[in-house]
Amino acid sequence: MKITVVGTGYVGLVTGTCFAETGNDVTCVDIDVNKVNKLSSGQITIYEPGLEKLFERNLKEGRLHFTNNLEEGIREAAVIFLALPTPPGEDGSADLSYILGVADQLGKILKDYKVIVDKSTVPVGTADKVHAAIAKNATVEFDVVSNPEFLREGVAVEDFMKPDRVVIGTQSDRARKIMGDLYAPFVRQGNPVIYMDEKSAELTKYAANSFLATKISFMNEIAILCEKLGADVDMVRRGIGSDDRIGKRFLFPGIGYGGSCFPKDVQALVKSSQEARYDFRILEAVMDVNEKQKLFLIPKIEAYFGNNLKGKHFALWGLAFKPNTDDIREAPALYIIDALTAAGATVTAFDPEAMPNVKQVVGDKIKFAEHQYEALEGADALIIATEWSVFRTPDFDKIQSILKNKTIFDGRNLFEVPRMEELGFHYESVGRLAVK
Ligand code: NAD
Repeated sequence: MKITVVGTGYVGLVTGTCFAETGNDVTCVDIDVNKVNKLSSGQITIYEPGLEKLFERNLKEGRLHFTNNLEEGIREAAVIFLALPTPPGEDGSADLSYILGVADQLGKILKDYKVIVDKSTVPVGTADKVHAAIAKNATVEFDVVSNPEFLREGVAVEDFMKPDRVVIGTQSDRARKIMGDLYAPFVRQGNPVIYMDEKSAELTKYAANSFLATKISFMNEIAILCEKLGADVDMVRRGIGSDDRIGKRFLFPGIGYGGSCFPKDVQALVKSSQEARYDFRILEAVMDVNEKQKLFLIPKIEAYFGNNLKGKHFALWGLAFKPNTDDIREAPALYIIDALTAAGATVTAFDPEAMPNVKQVVGDKIKFAEHQYEALEGADALIIATEWSVFRTPDFDKIQSILKNKTIFDGRNLFEVPRMEELGFHYESVGRLAVK
């Protein structure tokens, strides 16, 4: 099938590459000229495990093309995916200007029947708006489908190639058949393709992300309570996770959720609820808890250093909002950097993939190390903000020989408390006994 993907970011590039991998002929359109030039010449623009190999293979075999020209890019396509940004607007609602802007253009250039698919995360009712924006100018038949994307950055290729489920929102039999054919190779193991109406599909995506964010904020509050009451959140997590109704996943406390999805999607659902005259109290609390959680380690660090961080120097391991990605959107590490530098401290950071992106945002505010141990030089303490595997079993002898104080503030609970006690570290983490 000939497919076009409009927007070649994290979702668009993975979507385009994975559809090419199943034999489709895919054209990716982006307004970013630099990005299109890089991709056309074989240079991948994001870090995502496993993507580069698929990207190179499909580019070489001529199934993957890139262009800045929308009209040229969609000419032969049967299906056009919109994988465009939906950032929060000033009032927290999703900004639909990218989507509706492209929809408006599509109306003017469609020459024959096409299925236009919203892959972006969009509020309920957007498919209708996209339909109206295209219909304003279109002279041919078309269908608009809602097909939210559930991939997780860091395992995006695996998630796309073997999705737990595919949600397709459409009331058109013609579009349903085309979408079913396109996704058939991805659900051969029997995972469901769930058909529904457009609005339910749109809400499914927000409900999924909001539920997961709720799980995180809930566990973070349990962790706070553990510290106050002398319980151990690791034990509580294991205790509740073994109940099938709760499940083991997404129960790890930490320094809050970040990324390009949870913060903006929870906010957008709260906003949609307000517009529908409903006060979604749980989600307001979820956001509130997360805001505070990003700075969870700061009071601990301040208390340890006598409430004066002026002149102190910190090593920071981890910048990406989660491991296996270079994405730093809403990353808790950025909030920690702001808080430490505002208090007069200095920071040297290390992250396996995200340092170039952070450099662009923070400039000279902090220093960057070539290696995780180099970041420790001259530091009064080590702070851990992202659970990259490479930080999980470090050389503790080396850490103690380089750090000025044997002190670690761990926002991701990477190490066992008794081990840290045995090694003689001052070790503070989230929801567990502090080793002092
Ligand atoms: P992104 O910012 O990485 O990519 C968006 C791309 O669209 C950019 O390359 C940008 O240059 C391009 N673009 C902007 N305007 C354009 C236009 N007029 N024409 C062509 N290209 C244009 O965003 P993303 O992370 O891929 O997210 C896209 C959507 O998917 C969002 O709605 C997001 O919520 C949703 N989503 C994201 C994830 C994720 O993990 N990143 C997962 C599921 C869903």
